[in-house]
Amino acid sequence: MQIAFIGLGHMGAPMAINLAKAGHSVKAFDLSPDAVTKVAGAGCQAAASAEDAVKGAEVVISMLPASQHVEGLYLGRDGAAGLLPHIAKGVLVIDSSTIAAATSQKVAKAAAAAGIGFIDAPVSGGTGGAIAGTLTFMVGGSDADLERARPLLEKMGANIFHAGAVGAGQTAKICNNMLLGILMVGTSEAIALGVANGLDPKVLSEIMRRSSGGNWALEKYNPFPGVHENAPASKGYAGGFGTDLMLKDLGLAQETAIATRTSTPLGGMARAVYAAHSLAGHGAEDFSSVIKMLQKK
Ligand code: NAD
Repeated sequence: MQIAFIGLGHMGAPMAINLAKAGHSVKAFDLSPDAVTKVAGAGCQAAASAEDAVKGAEVVISMLPASQHVEGLYLGRDGAAGLLPHIAKGVLVIDSSTIAAATSQKVAKAAAAAGIGFIDAPVSGGTGGAIAGTLTFMVGGSDADLERARPLLEKMGANIFHAGAVGAGQTAKICNNMLLGILMVGTSEAIALGVANGLDPKVLSEIMRRSSGGNWALEKYNPFPGVHENAPASKGYAGGFGTDLMLKDLGLAQETAIATRTSTPLGGMARAVYAAHSLAGHGAEDFSSVIKMLQKK
């Protein structure tokens, strides 16, 4: 299949490479020329622009940071035209970015008016899952569009859930990430408390992992350096899922809670903790670096 892939960051690059490895023709574009060069050396074709990438594409996939990037790309921004008029009728757009459900719905509506299909398909599983091709996709859209996307999603992920109509994938994703943000702060607090009281972080983490406090951070993504060799904490908090991206997702969760008059007190507190951590200069580091805020100096 001829695929256009736009957004080749921590997640998009390995996802595009997995599609190329599966035998698809992937024309890839990112605003960063270095990002394009990297995937071009791994089986993808380099596109000179987003317009160039979508020429002849049967499916367009985007993996961008936030709502404004997705809306700007497809619908245009600051007077600049968007990409939709360059995409052929009948093409399917799969947006895997984590953005506001309302933005997915806005782009989907404009796409439908142009005869273009659209699903939101945000992911969970981190950069490790993106590289291994074991991501979880949470899809919002019609049954027919999901079935068209499924063979491609299966090359990038291990679990595919149909959450509902367009936007439902985003709602599921921010519920999950609100829980993850809270869990990472709680896990960091517990480890920092134990270490301040003389415990070995590896021993404590293993005790909690196998006890009632067990969770994904303790399984795979420990915030304390040296506990999990491949976790961002053991690589100077480089790569992984940026603090500012977690802050964005917790903001989306709070906006959704306000709009529906839902009570999410711990989600609100977690957002405040990551906001303070970002302001302290850690926005670009992996979100597990939040443990630095909680450690005894
Ligand atoms: P990233 O910042 O590493 O990558 C985003 C890329 O998009 C950058 O390379 C940037 O240059 C590019 N970009 C921005 N605007 C563009 C445009 N108009 N045209 C082309 N390229 C453009 O981010 P990431 O970690 O890959 O995350 C991408 C999305 O996936 C985010 O919405 C994030 O919340 C979500 N996500 C991330 C993770 C993770 O572990 N990193 C996990 C699950 C979901």
